Amino acid sequence: RAKKQSNNSYQFFNAAMHTQAMNRLTLETDLRKAIKHQEFGLRYQPIINLQNQQIIGFETLIRWHHPQRGTIDPDDFVPIAEETGLITSIDHWVFYQACQQIARWKSQVNHSDELRISINFSVQDLRKSTLLQDLDAILSEANLAGSAITIEITESILIEDIEQTTELLSQLAAKQIRISIDDFGTGYSSLNYLHRLPVHSLKIDRSFVSQMHANNSNYEVVSTILALSKHLGLTAVAEGIETPEQLQALKKLGCEFGQGYLFAPPLTVEAVEKQLCQNNSFVV
Ligand code: C2E
Ligand code: MG
Ligand code: MG
Ligand code: MG
Repeated sequence: RAKKQSNNSYQFFNAAMHTQAMNRLTLETDLRKAIKHQEFGLRYQPIINLQNQQIIGFETLIRWHHPQRGTIDPDDFVPIAEETGLITSIDHWVFYQACQQIARWKSQVNHSDELRISINFSVQDLRKSTLLQDLDAILSEANLAGSAITIEITESILIEDIEQTTELLSQLAAKQIRISIDDFGTGYSSLNYLHRLPVHSLKIDRSFVSQMHANNSNYEVVSTILALSKHLGLTAVAEGIETPEQLQALKKLGCEFGQGYLFAPPLTVEAVEKQLCQNNSFVV
């Protein structure tokens, strides 16, 4: 009897695994078509100067409008795109679109000269041999300076191949492109090399910000990251600010920049222009 039961659960497990594998396989097939059929869309989330609530820029966040499944969030397809290598063509498209968009806003909206656009990169993007030429071509087509761009990379990417990464980040820095370390605090970066890398800012992971008041140790993590960024001469951006309490606490701790639902969720181009472009100037 015991044997039969374990046999059943084995079959059940197997069936579930099979479904999961099939699901993944179709997503992978669909992802290849998605590029060709242009099923991706972009959202832009304002990044705010916490002292004066001015918009200093936008983070570009991808969405997949799947013809059958509806909108799919990046957490559910970026990992597959990374494993299959499709991410490099997707992010090339993202970079192109985001540059065109920010260039349009810069030319159409008053007081937008300092506006910056942030783009998320995966490790495969950094390893692409033509990356620097690709970025140059896209920037010059948009008639945009490198100083308008921030590339966000997660902490774990940095330690994978520190020599090669340092070299590449220096080449990006030479173009005035800024580097921001995303989800900071969740990875394993060592202070040992952090101060040697041409990094401009640290993004404090949402998990710490959202639990700042519920959990004292998370409050301490935020406070420590802010002290660290100050010490290293970096700026800090808090992710996922949802409440006025979080905003007050972050300001008190000296955090300069932030983003989150308290100000605005990731917005469509139309929403940015309708909600934020008052008096032909960006305000939250
Ligand atoms: P991320 O770069 O850390 O982006 C922040 C995520 O937090 C976004 O999720 C954003 O929608 C969400 N968020 C922002 N404010 C709040 C808030 O106040 N509360 C809550 N609960 N969430 C908030 P999203 O758009 O689902 O993106 C997830 C991740 O997917 C991103 O994390 C990034 O790592 C990756 N990703 C997004 N777009 C791209 C892309 O174009 N290329 C690549 N390679 N990765 C991307
Ligand atoms: Mg990001
Ligand atoms: Mg992040
Ligand atoms: Mg995150």
